[in-house]
Amino acid sequence: MKELTEIKYWIFDLDNTLYSGQTKVFSEVDKKMSSFISEKFGVDLIEAKKIQKEYFYEYGTTLSGLMKKKNINPNEFLEFVHDIDISWLPKDKLLREELIKIKEKKYIFSNGSHAHIENVTNQLGIDGLFDGAFDITDADFVPKPHLEPYKKLIEKFKLDPKKSILIEDIAHNLEQAKKLGMKTCWLENDEAFAKKDADKPYIDYKINNLPSFLQKINVLRNN
Ligand SMILES: [Mg+2]
Repeated sequence: MKELTEIKYWIFDLDNTLYSGQTKVFSEVDKKMSSFISEKFGVDLIEAKKIQKEYFYEYGTTLSGLMKKKNINPNEFLEFVHDIDISWLPKDKLLREELIKIKEKKYIFSNGSHAHIENVTNQLGIDGLFDGAFDITDADFVPKPHLEPYKKLIEKFKLDPKKSILIEDIAHNLEQAKKLGMKTCWLENDEAFAKKDADKPYIDYKINNLPSFLQKINVLRNN
């Protein structure tokens, strides 16, 4: 773990990583995706959910599938699905404190939109603590786990992958990061899709609590 005190670029996934999956924030987005599909295609919510998940598993994000198969305007979709009320989500003071202690560069790397990143980080009380964010529009709508967005992220922020770490709840999203030379860290969770590749060798670290993981590294760094 001591090697992590040498990391110069900290890259965080957003959903179910910077906040716990147990908060159900992402369920709100998930519901909005179903109602978007339901309204657009005149199907009921059960059918809409089926289409949504099919696209998600096949294309990496529901949006990718909608763009490829149904020619959906991505901005319209993103605006609709990320318009969620999460005012009930509590501030994460410990996460804030530990992020502040990391003096190296910090980035958010999300398959969601910049508006969603802002909404969530504001609500958690960790806005303004990052050096940049890379969203699905920066990725030209090609989501993780495709290789391209990882390369674009590196290019956009001039990262040195050998001095970078990616922290993610979806184990499979760590594969390309590792191939490019990054350290990888999986946030343990019980979501079948997210944990299905949790035993793959491309995962360097497994943690169950992000703030306390960062706290440990911050303590190590100062010793
Ligand atoms: Mg996530």
